[in-house]
Amino acid sequence: MSLDRRDGILALDGLKLSEVAETFGTPCYVYSAASIIRNYQAFEHAFAEINPLICYAVKANSNLSILALLASMGAGFDIVSSGELERVRLAGGSPQRSVFSGVGKTAREIQDALREDIHCFNVESEAELSALARIAEDAQLIAPVSLRVNPDVDPKTHPYIATGLKEAKFGVSMQQAERIYQEAAKHPHLRMVGIDCHIGSQITEIEPYLEAATRLFEMVDQLTKTGLQLQHVDLGGGMGIRYQNEPAFPLEELARWLKPRLDERQLELILEPGRSIVADSGLLITEVLYIKSSEDKHFCVVDAAMNDLIRPSLYNAWQKIESIEPAGTDTEALHYDVVGPICETGDFLAKDRLLNTAAGQRLAVLDAGAYGFVMSSNYNSRPRAAEILIEAGTARVIRPRESLSALVKDELGCLTSS
Ligand SMILES: *Cc1c(COP(=O)(O)O)cnc(C)c1O
Repeated sequence: MSLDRRDGILALDGLKLSEVAETFGTPCYVYSAASIIRNYQAFEHAFAEINPLICYAVKANSNLSILALLASMGAGFDIVSSGELERVRLAGGSPQRSVFSGVGKTAREIQDALREDIHCFNVESEAELSALARIAEDAQLIAPVSLRVNPDVDPKTHPYIATGLKEAKFGVSMQQAERIYQEAAKHPHLRMVGIDCHIGSQITEIEPYLEAATRLFEMVDQLTKTGLQLQHVDLGGGMGIRYQNEPAFPLEELARWLKPRLDERQLELILEPGRSIVADSGLLITEVLYIKSSEDKHFCVVDAAMNDLIRPSLYNAWQKIESIEPAGTDTEALHYDVVGPICETGDFLAKDRLLNTAAGQRLAVLDAGAYGFVMSSNYNSRPRAAEILIEAGTARVIRPRESLSALVKDELGCLTSS
């Protein structure tokens, strides 16, 4: 994203973040439309000769205005629930360009997606496939199916977001896949159109993709020999971003490797990037409430907490933090743990960061556009933060800060008067 300093003040796409904070309050998420567009176009350009269906993974950031922006650029979507399907529809996205992933689709969710004429069901088990066949038959429809296989490759990422190892709950094993394809191919209400995998998230190396794709191509070839011709290969998402000093993900190299292998088999390509489209397009602004020092530790207590941004607590994730205001002359740079107001020792946004700041100043937690707001909660009865989008030089609210009354409204209706 395009960050610089104006009069010493951190600015995003030319707008001073101190002014954004004053206008909209803190904590707030701020996203750059220009950055989202650039990241999406980076995929389009790198894969131009393949012309894949790029299905943005909605779970990374599902704000309707962001989905609408991506839909306007022609993106498809990777959804994991009826809620996400509803968001895609409301944002003007196309269900026919969307794939439905997830290990636990309910009957209702399958019905919804069938009715919306979804591009493909990424099926994760034999049991789900049977349920899908039954529901499609009841509805007198034919379900387009891709089988999510588990290629058993190590994406070398955090264990919670490594999803392609054989002990993971996702997909079916390569050993089982062929038999499942053969049986499903006979079902009159299933159409076997593809094969997919998603091996993890925040992957910074290309090798795990090449290994996974190689196994998928082997399966495609095996099926072709028996007369079952698939139409697409879906390699999922997971492309990593540079939070700290990770290498940039080599999209062009992946495209160059894939192109002849797809052509040879007359396969289309689907990709499901989430993080790599939105993560570095967003930041979280938080205000310093108190500075607190003991003999051997300095804490910077801020107004954002693990309920707003859980990645540091959940994955021990590192996100860069910058002061928005210029360093004061009466304060010194110290190593701080940046912590929120929640009653948990695990409530921190960062540890041991050198910052020159003071109560009343604001900090920006960078690279917070993916798995940030979407994972936020009301823990400690904290209303969820506002979301702001900067587009064409102006900042506007795309989700207002939650009100205290909204927080209790549903329960108030259930209170029995004594
Ligand atoms: C989460 C997920 C994605 C997106 O992953 P990113 O790391 O955000 O790119 C894509 N496909 C599936 C099936 C997922 O579960």
